[in-house]
Amino acid sequence: MSSSDNSRRRFIVNAGTASGALLVGACGQSSQPAGAQTDAAASQQSFKWKMATTWPRDLPGAGTGAQRLVDNIRKMSNGRLDITLYGAGELVPAFEVFDSAASRIVEMGHGAAYYWKGKAPASQYYGSVPFGMTATESNAWLYYGGGLELWNEVYEPFGLMAFPGGNTGVQMGGWYNREINSVSDLQGLKIRMPGLGGEVMRRAGATVQNIPGAEIFTALSTGTIDATEWIGPWNDLAFGLYQAARYYYYPGWQEPGSTLECLINREAYLELPEDLQEIVRVACQSINMDMPCEYTARNQQALDTLVNEHGVELRQFPEEVLARLKTISQEVLEELADGDAMSRRVYDSYFGFLAQVRQWTAKSEEVFLQYR
Ligand code: CA
Repeated sequence: MSSSDNSRRRFIVNAGTASGALLVGACGQSSQPAGAQTDAAASQQSFKWKMATTWPRDLPGAGTGAQRLVDNIRKMSNGRLDITLYGAGELVPAFEVFDSAASRIVEMGHGAAYYWKGKAPASQYYGSVPFGMTATESNAWLYYGGGLELWNEVYEPFGLMAFPGGNTGVQMGGWYNREINSVSDLQGLKIRMPGLGGEVMRRAGATVQNIPGAEIFTALSTGTIDATEWIGPWNDLAFGLYQAARYYYYPGWQEPGSTLECLINREAYLELPEDLQEIVRVACQSINMDMPCEYTARNQQALDTLVNEHGVELRQFPEEVLARLKTISQEVLEELADGDAMSRRVYDSYFGFLAQVRQWTAKSEEVFLQYR
């Protein structure tokens, strides 16, 4: 175990202790005799849940973050809410996580909302929007711009609740076995790309496949696909994708700040006493903010390893290609909004918020980073 792992564990233990103390304090403040009885009864109830993820169990970031989430919930609740994590395929296949949580085969899932476009088209705005908001902007929209309330409306018909549960930050454009020098190089390219980015690629001339993470390496190394996007250096190094493709492209126009999600069976959530509900909510928010910190800390180290030890050739997409993909993205996003009333509402909320927040980003981070 590295010293950073040690310090992380200490932090989690300390964070758990601090939150536990706060909750005890909150109960203490409302300890009217009747309330105290309710609190005492509720404090003895314990719950065992299952959580299925769309990720391999040990996938850095998304997978380890999901494990950290359930560990935090167990510690903060003093074991009263004990959630067993099942990686992709261990209990249910990756792409059945949504249905499994809806039908309460599991109480909770961890994944990315764009996987559920076949269930609710509007969910695609909650995974990642091509050329859309960064992680910081997206979290601002979710927590303080009405985005999360709408997300819960999208999942409500399925008996599910949505909680932001991680963010990868800006991803990489992906792994290619041919150089992309112009838009015509995308013609006939067999690429793995989920969500709206995949639809954009399809319209740009590529043949697009949606493949769960665990199957990407095999698909790329056997030539089932010529190219793939996955996440970023930290995750892509772990998958060994450098062994199956030569060029590593940036930026990840298709996923500029992908939100991961905890989806929770509403009935199961409402059965929890209020303090456990709050522990779940705050633990999800905690991992949502923790995960991008770890991605930022580890991505450049991993990129150095990819380039210096594995000879990966880094390439930036040409401006012409990015401009074309952006034009198609706008078409795709507008068409999605025209498809159903909920998608229109989410679109209006998302792009209304982006129109406002981008002005602040332009005056703050954009300008600052030019001169740092
Ligand atoms: Ca991705």
